[in-house]
Amino acid sequence: MKPSLLLYAPPHLQVPVTTLRGVGDSQATTLADSKFAIKSIQDLLQHYPRRHLDFTDSKPIDQAREGDELTIIGEIRKANTPPPMRGRKIPHKFALYDGSSHIWLTFFNQPWRARDLKVGTRIAAKGKVSVFRGSRQMNNPMVDIITEAGEAVRIVPVYPATAEIQTTKLRRYIAAALEQYRPLEDPLPQALLDRQGLIERTRALADYHFPREMAHKWIARKRLVFDELFTLQLGLAYRKHRIELQTLGIAHHTGDGLADEFLRALPFKPTGAQLRSIEEIRLDMARPTPMHRLLQGEVGSGKTVVALHAALLAVQGGYQAAVMAPTEVLANQHFLTLSALLEPLGVRSGRGKVEQMDLFGAPAPDGGAVTDFDNTGQIVLLTGSIGAAKRREALKRIADGSAGIVVGTHALIQEGVQFSNLGMVVVDEQHRFGVRQRVALREKTSGDSAPDILIMTATPIPRTLAFTLYGDLDVSILDELPKGRRPVKTRIVSEAERQSAYDLVRSEVRAGRQAYVITPLIDESDKLDVKSAETEAKRLATEVFPDLRVGMMHGRMKPNAKEKVMSEFRRGEVDVLISTTVVEVGVDVPNATVMLIEDADRFGLSQLHQLRGRIGRGEHASTCLVLSSVVDDEEAEPVALERLKVLASTNDGFVLANKDLELRGTGTVLGERQSGMSDLRLTHLLRDLKVLQAAREEAFSLIGKDPELLRHPNIRLEMEGRYSDRIEWLLRS
Ligand code: ADP
Ligand code: MG
Repeated sequence: MKPSLLLYAPPHLQVPVTTLRGVGDSQATTLADSKFAIKSIQDLLQHYPRRHLDFTDSKPIDQAREGDELTIIGEIRKANTPPPMRGRKIPHKFALYDGSSHIWLTFFNQPWRARDLKVGTRIAAKGKVSVFRGSRQMNNPMVDIITEAGEAVRIVPVYPATAEIQTTKLRRYIAAALEQYRPLEDPLPQALLDRQGLIERTRALADYHFPREMAHKWIARKRLVFDELFTLQLGLAYRKHRIELQTLGIAHHTGDGLADEFLRALPFKPTGAQLRSIEEIRLDMARPTPMHRLLQGEVGSGKTVVALHAALLAVQGGYQAAVMAPTEVLANQHFLTLSALLEPLGVRSGRGKVEQMDLFGAPAPDGGAVTDFDNTGQIVLLTGSIGAAKRREALKRIADGSAGIVVGTHALIQEGVQFSNLGMVVVDEQHRFGVRQRVALREKTSGDSAPDILIMTATPIPRTLAFTLYGDLDVSILDELPKGRRPVKTRIVSEAERQSAYDLVRSEVRAGRQAYVITPLIDESDKLDVKSAETEAKRLATEVFPDLRVGMMHGRMKPNAKEKVMSEFRRGEVDVLISTTVVEVGVDVPNATVMLIEDADRFGLSQLHQLRGRIGRGEHASTCLVLSSVVDDEEAEPVALERLKVLASTNDGFVLANKDLELRGTGTVLGERQSGMSDLRLTHLLRDLKVLQAAREEAFSLIGKDPELLRHPNIRLEMEGRYSDRIEWLLRS
């Protein structure tokens, strides 16, 4: 049987639908084999209506005026139904009589009406009244057949249905199930219901299917949505509790030391938000339970500093720290940042020659020309593309513990890597770092305690949503940008104004700045797309900017080649970097002040915002030029231009993310992360944020008071039911 989703499944609801009067074996088979897979009474009760038809606004026919929208209740007296004819569309007409007068119901293109609306049938019809040749009529009204005698005006549920399982049938079965099985057991304590202003479950289900007033439906919905979110959050709270209880973590040495020296050595003052997050992490790390924390912050909010500080907290106590970056370019960047900042503090990075760079606004200690390292220091780099010798050296130092900080890509949790005593892991969310990876990581260290984990994300989702998505994680938020940042100005540029965009790029470069041009390569694996991006790069280099130094980077290039272009750009040897979205994450070149995004309408809002975050990182004013043909294309979908306008109107990632969610729907935006959320039937994550918050608080407070739910056995059953397909995940730590 499919896992029960939402309700506590008391045995009496897990019974087959055949227990309903009037449902036989063949009906049961039809229900079970349908795409709805309705097998039990519970499945039936959770087959929620798509919408309701409201027939409560009825009037006698003789009082209906032209233009009124209302419901008429009466009996079919006459049916003018033409014989089925091919190719000709003759309307079907029915005279409806209610004792006061009659009205004609006219249906276009609905020949099947003839089957339903036989003379003598009692119906409710809702629509707009018109007058034709002196008699009243309604065109294509909504119709509800009134089946039972005495059944009056009402609100009628419309169910997701199929040809075999019509909505009328579902209505009948569900009504019968509610009748026969009420009252349903309610696992939630009355005190909780009172606190949250929730109605009791039996009534919620009854009112959601068959509300007597539309207002009741929304009250009912709130309870059902709460249930969906509460059981979800309960699982997260429960799991978090167990992990903390059962897993041995490391109580790091978090007093003054290398980590704070690092802070003091920074050429800037950390923001209040950075300091707050640093302290939250410090407290977590000092405790002997493993930290699982999410560090969320707008692009440019300075997550790296916070994360590196956390890594150093582990290092100063003799543990190893791993910093996992989503791309090689970023891994290199982190490696260089760390090396430049830590070498003055006496931490060796094992770099041979050093790239000259402007890190944190400070000149690098020594000024060679290329990035090179021998991996013999306390900071080592492990990516897929370092040479065999360096890799061997890195692995050796990771295993014997002489490498204190290991910076790398996903290669870090792959085969052959064995840490001596890993104490802290910083991961970028790009890795989709899940439970399985956490477990894999623990097996990578000989130490017997679980390392602390800090996950960084720039996905600006509302805090409450972050809670659901990252569920069992704690959250630190960087909601403040470093002082002196000048907001990026965003300009929408039409095809006709292309030249002016190029002019701005050139004048910025003349002034000593650098520029990005983002090309519309969406699918990095598509050879044709790559080709066209390369052609475009060549065109820009030879025709548009023949006087400037132009570099090109895309996802299909070898990591070494990418890194070479990137470091040339960092060093200021490339003026204009033409790139695909591979620069989207984390690349930090404060001297870059213009970004020209081609075909901007082809990107999502959040992605555009991430891209734009590559500029505006230094002291100079920056401009983002979003070029799109939708600007002067009358045929284009208005929403495409609207998105660009939203982007131009704000630099606030949260506002943009919300807008993006609205325009594209939660599924597409949140992607994989929301797996496990697909079984939210009624909940709309954005609209139900308040309920989500409440459900989360109640769930965590309940687990705090009754961790094993011993005093709430029904709630526990419900939680296990909800997680039955992930029960391992729930119960194991
Ligand atoms: P994020 O990863 O959150 O997008 P980064 O950590 O890459 O941001 O920081 C963006 C830029 O801001 C970097 O150049 C960094 O050196 C700088 N920076 C970080 N914190 C501060 C601060 N408190 N004051 C000034 N500049 C900062
Ligand atoms: Mg960053």
